[in-house]
Amino acid sequence: MKPAPFDYAAARDLDHALALFGEAEGEAKYIAGGQTLGPMLNLRLSQPDRLIDLGRIDALRDARSEGDRVVFGAGVRHAEIEDGLLPDPSGGLMPQAAARLAYRAIRNRGTLGGSLVHADPAAEWPNILLALDATVHLRGLAGAREVRLGDFQLGYLTTDLAPDEIVASISIPVLGPTARWGYHKLCRQPGEFAQSLAVTVVFGPGRVRCVLGCAGPVPLLLKAVSALAGGVSGWRDDVRTEIAAALETDLSAAGIAVDAVDLRAHAATVARSMKDALA
Ligand SMILES: Cc1cc2nc3c(=O)[nH]c(=O)nc-3n(C[C@H](O)[C@H](O)[C@H](O)COP(=O)(O)OP(=O)(O)OC[C@H]3O[C@@H](n4cnc5c(N)ncnc54)[C@H](O)[C@@H]3O)c2cc1C
Repeated sequence: MKPAPFDYAAARDLDHALALFGEAEGEAKYIAGGQTLGPMLNLRLSQPDRLIDLGRIDALRDARSEGDRVVFGAGVRHAEIEDGLLPDPSGGLMPQAAARLAYRAIRNRGTLGGSLVHADPAAEWPNILLALDATVHLRGLAGAREVRLGDFQLGYLTTDLAPDEIVASISIPVLGPTARWGYHKLCRQPGEFAQSLAVTVVFGPGRVRCVLGCAGPVPLLLKAVSALAGGVSGWRDDVRTEIAAALETDLSAAGIAVDAVDLRAHAATVARSMKDALA
């Protein structure tokens, strides 16, 4: 399949991208790495009149430390994180997650911002960055604003982003020296999207964020599981039963029903991520 015809414009900077959006006739859409949008165009699931390429905006490729956070330009590519070329606020979690995301060819072009805007609950960054409590910084025709990632992800492939808005950067708190994490992805073969994906970050005593992907329309911050993890010191194998019960509480609170096989898979990834974080 070939895409429907569209007009193409490469933006020099964010102001230029917004101007190109504002002057477009018909539907305009931004493109970054093209690893998700490309196939959607080819399948004609998306038929914009104008594509605005964000890939040549240097400011979107930057990553820098700012106080107790690292700020990533939205155009940072998965492979740059995998290769350790950028500051890492996550004590190794982000490079490990990047290395397990899709295939190297996709990681060479796919971007942090593109992944967050696509908002697939089975994708790495929406889950990992929710566990790390990231904030998304947006620029639009009406100005700039910032949104905690948990408020940005509204539903399946749906975010709080207005059509003209661009994810400019993502800021992530730097984990302290005593922070620990665990991450587990269950998929049939390397390079595939997860069937279940869980990440647990222990920020400090009693402060834990455990996130589960693939179970609902958005990544789920598991409150009961996180509280359980915050209340135990060290890993004990017999805590698996309590994890399974807490997970059912969280899924039920979110109004999510899963079958017994999926429940078992999710309980396993959550327990493995918690074990690595607490061991
Ligand atoms: C075969 C295959 C396997 C994959 N496996 C995985 C996997 O295991 N895990 C995983 O997490 N991902 C996976 N992906 C998705 C991949 O990570 C994509 O790179 C990512 O989802 C989209 O990033 P992109 O930069 O290519 O975005 P694009 O495809 O360019 O854009 C995606 C969407 O985001 C919008 N957009 C992009 N950047 C911005 C911005 N800065 N501001 C506003 N809107 C923006 C676009 O308009 C579009 O709607 C896979 C993809 C493929 C093709």
